[in-house]
Amino acid sequence: MEIIIGREEGARRLHCIAGGREFNLGVAGSVPISVSRKHCKLIINGERLSIENLSDLNVTFVDGNQVFSKVITANSQVQLGKEKYNLPLKEIIGLVAPKKTTKPSKQEKEVPVFSLAPLEEVWNEYNRKKLELQLENEKEAKKQKRKIGMRIAVSGLMSLCGEPVLGALAGGVMGASMMASSNNESKAVQLRKLDEELDKVYKCPNPECGCPFGPIPYNRLKFKRKCPNCGCKYTAD
Ligand SMILES: [Zn+2]
Repeated sequence: MEIIIGREEGARRLHCIAGGREFNLGVAGSVPISVSRKHCKLIINGERLSIENLSDLNVTFVDGNQVFSKVITANSQVQLGKEKYNLPLKEIIGLVAPKKTTKPSKQEKEVPVFSLAPLEEVWNEYNRKKLELQLENEKEAKKQKRKIGMRIAVSGLMSLCGEPVLGALAGGVMGASMMASSNNESKAVQLRKLDEELDKVYKCPNPECGCPFGPIPYNRLKFKRKCPNCGCKYTAD
């Protein structure tokens, strides 16, 4: 940041232009005529400060020595003009430096607390349904196996009676196995839907978050202390 420093016209206060902003310091008449309208430039680059004369005709002192351009510190004594007007350096820096925003640290910030307890019932319900589906699945598989066995037996009988055997046999086996696989598929769809339904309700209780937990058993979930997504705290009470 660069601050153009000089004498205010008329009232003769200190005049500063910093990033399109102008301000005056001191009382009327406090800046001598030997300080020109645009006398010097203060450059603030992070912690680094320097002062630069804006014209050969201007006289600037740093710690008693006349300079044209010099690296300084906030404690340097900068004087302008033959009369050695004392530049209020710290005051200028304080006025133009970006205000340090006092961000509350993570500990100070109030973290909302949510209870995970209502999710126990949600998990139990999901688990019950899932078990049911899996049991049905197994039952169906057994039934299909029996059916296939029976068809083969029937076809065998028919072959004994001189019926066209191969066609019936193949048809029977294929039909049964197709039924079994489509049945397995619909079960897989149902299981997937069950997981999707779980994600909608088995999630971070913070309404501003709602990050799904996935199929973590409630017995493990209840030991979670906070949400990895929003940082809210959890209790299991
Ligand atoms: Zn969350």
